[in-house]
Amino acid sequence: MKILVAKFVLEANANVPMMSDLENTALSFGEEALTHMQLGDVFRDEDIELIPVICADAGCSGVMKKKAFNYIEQSILDAIKENRNEIDAIYLHLHGASEIEDLEAGSGEHHLLKEVRKIVGPYMPIGISCDPHGNLCKEYVESANIIRSFREAPHTDIPETVQFVCRELVKLVRERRRITPVYRKLPLILGGEQTVSLDEPVKSINCFMDALEEDERILSASWHVGYIRHDTPVAGCGIVVIPCDDKYRDYANEKADELASFVFDRRHEFHYTGITKQPEEALNMALNFEGRPVVISDSGDNVTSGSMGVNTFILEQVISVEKLQKKVLFASIHDVNTYQQLMSYSIGSIVTIKVGMGIDELSKPVELKVTVKYKGRQEGTRMYGEDGDYGGLVRVSVVNKPIDIVICENNHSFVEIHQIEACGCSLDDYDILIVKQGYIHPELLEAGKLCIMSLTKGATLQDTSALDFKLIMRPMFPIDNI
Ligand SMILES: [Zn+2]
Repeated sequence: MKILVAKFVLEANANVPMMSDLENTALSFGEEALTHMQLGDVFRDEDIELIPVICADAGCSGVMKKKAFNYIEQSILDAIKENRNEIDAIYLHLHGASEIEDLEAGSGEHHLLKEVRKIVGPYMPIGISCDPHGNLCKEYVESANIIRSFREAPHTDIPETVQFVCRELVKLVRERRRITPVYRKLPLILGGEQTVSLDEPVKSINCFMDALEEDERILSASWHVGYIRHDTPVAGCGIVVIPCDDKYRDYANEKADELASFVFDRRHEFHYTGITKQPEEALNMALNFEGRPVVISDSGDNVTSGSMGVNTFILEQVISVEKLQKKVLFASIHDVNTYQQLMSYSIGSIVTIKVGMGIDELSKPVELKVTVKYKGRQEGTRMYGEDGDYGGLVRVSVVNKPIDIVICENNHSFVEIHQIEACGCSLDDYDILIVKQGYIHPELLEAGKLCIMSLTKGATLQDTSALDFKLIMRPMFPIDNI
């Protein structure tokens, strides 16, 4: 059995003032691409041969340039054309929230799958694992045979989901069944920060789906939160129920309606997890808190949802605190020019720098006199179970103030504690840690004696009802009152 595999992920935030291009995309090919797919040993059977094409990981970024997407899409399509007479199935890892410049209907994944079907026709088994923060539509879902999203947010179950899809895809080929997923679109639009899986109502929704899957007629049930950071007709929540065989499709339809009602009936229960405060109150709470560490997330500049991580708003807030007694670490602020400037100084140098890329009002440069403390790389670090090189960093201490800032050459979030250690320091050295996230990720949440999501402004503004949509389905809760 031959299976062609490829991965393309991008969460495209249209409010980010830069476009995603190939130079911001981690590209790997062939065998190397396989090392980034978290496939485990599902394809280890002797009679399975993989044809790995590409892993194109653009992470969370802006809308992708058409040329960059064309290159990625064409690599996959060319490989499919070349191997069309040999392959038995196709496995794709796709995010679901890409948005491509000047592409018909916008979504890269939807375009890609349509083009794949043009080459292989309607019957070649295709399995897709995806992020729940991606958008679906009926045509896209029904063009796949198996499609399933991660259940946990933060996404701690990526390998399980990937391997579930791959295992079922192999079975589908071996058993020569025919399956078509059932899709329902919900008139509900939600942000990721309101759908943390350790919290309700997501916990109950996941239990409901577990129960559906106990029925041997149902192969998979998944709920897709959707993505709200670009305007698109496919935005909004969706659910997918997949029968084990098309002979159970009527039954899957019934179950899909039940799951759709179960989610929609809980529309008033979605809420921010943990403590959320306006920026001034968030900082005051942290300053007055007895224990340590306190973690504050700059939710308007949430790198895990596509922001650039460049905002200096909270830095300015902290700098202007008189007689600051707490030791504060910013991990991190993305400023490539200042990073490069700092790399030319030796450790211990005292220099005047400007932190902030000045792209807009929120990222305006702050002039500081600092001591260069540490130069390093986020290399060999793990994020979401993926090894990688997340780029260079310099840690500086502000002269005469108990403030350390990690300045990075790119935008990635500090979601795990070992990433702080890669800056030559320890979380224990600080009273307050400021990160570029929305909801605070599990390790930090556990370490933090107090965690606060600061409702800052930025590309990932939390007030969903204030977002301006023109293309989405209406009515849509909570923008419209249903
Ligand atoms: Zn996600």
